[in-house]
Amino acid sequence: MTRVYATKVAERVYLLDTYALGVAGTVGAYLVKGPKPALVDCGYSSSYESVLAGLAEVGVMPSEVRYVIPTHVHLDHAGAAGRLLREMPNAEVVAHERALPHLEDPTRLIESSTMVFGRQIMELYGRPDPIPSGRMTAVREESRIDLGDGLTATLMHTPGHAPHQISVTLDNTGVLLTADAVGIVYPGLNALIPTTPPPSFNPSELVASVGRLRQMTPKTLLVPHFGARKDAEWVFGRTTELVSSWVTAVKEMWKQKSTLEKTSERMEETVATDAGVEELPIYAKVSVRTSVMGIMHYLDKNH
Ligand SMILES: [Zn+2]
Repeated sequence: MTRVYATKVAERVYLLDTYALGVAGTVGAYLVKGPKPALVDCGYSSSYESVLAGLAEVGVMPSEVRYVIPTHVHLDHAGAAGRLLREMPNAEVVAHERALPHLEDPTRLIESSTMVFGRQIMELYGRPDPIPSGRMTAVREESRIDLGDGLTATLMHTPGHAPHQISVTLDNTGVLLTADAVGIVYPGLNALIPTTPPPSFNPSELVASVGRLRQMTPKTLLVPHFGARKDAEWVFGRTTELVSSWVTAVKEMWKQKSTLEKTSERMEETVATDAGVEELPIYAKVSVRTSVMGIMHYLDKNH
C-alpha cells in the first residue's frame, strides 16, 4: 500500500503522519506552510524519514524550515528533532524553557522511556540526537513567533500532561495545535483515552490547561494523536471528564494494591466499551497502560 505522508487539515497547515513504529494514524506532526515554515512536533527519532517524506509531499525543502517546535520532550514529539535539524540548517528549535536541558542532553528522557517501556524500547523509538543549545530558544509562559505573510503563532505553556509542554495557536485563524493537553482519539476507534503518562502527569494542572485552551474557543483542534477535530467542545469536555474519572477509578484500585496489569485491563475494558469494540488494538492498549501508569505514579508520589 502506498503511504500518504501529508494531509491538508487547515489553511496552510498539513498533518504529517510519522508512521510511528510502522503504524499509520498514531503519531502526527504538523507543518505550517507560511513564508517561514514551522514544524510542530517531530515524531520518534526512528520515524524522521517519514517527516522528510511529508515535507517533500507538501513541497517544502528541509532547508526552508525555519522553526522546529517540539511541544514537549516526550520521544513521540521531540525524538526526531535533533536528527531533523541536521537536514534543516536554517531552523531553530523553540520549546519550553524546562524542555531545553532535556533536548540538549537526552539522557534523562532515554532513562524515563526505558523505565516506562523496558530496555528494548530505544531500538524501536530510536535514540534522540542532542540539540546544540545555540540553536534553541526558550518559551516561558507565552511567546509569539512570526511565520511571515501576516501569520503569527502564539506558544503557550500548558502543563499537566508534562511540565514542559506548550500548545500553539495560529493567531486569528481559530486553529489550535493542542499538543497532548487533550486526550487521544485514534482514527477508527471512537473513544477518548486521557493523556496522563509518567513521570510528571499532574491532574489539576492538566485540567487547568484544558480550561485555558477551551476559553479560547478554537474552531479546529490539531491533535498529535491523531488528526484534526472540529468538535473542540466535546474534546475539551470529554478530556476533563475522563482525567477526573480515571484518577478516581485508578485510585480505588491503587488503594486495594491492584497491579498495573489488572488496573490497565480494567481501564482497557472501559475504553473498549466506549468505542463499542471487543478488543483494543495494541497501540491503544499501550496508551491506556501508559496513562494508568502515570496516574499510579502520581498517586505514589502524592500520598
Ligand atoms: Zn504524545
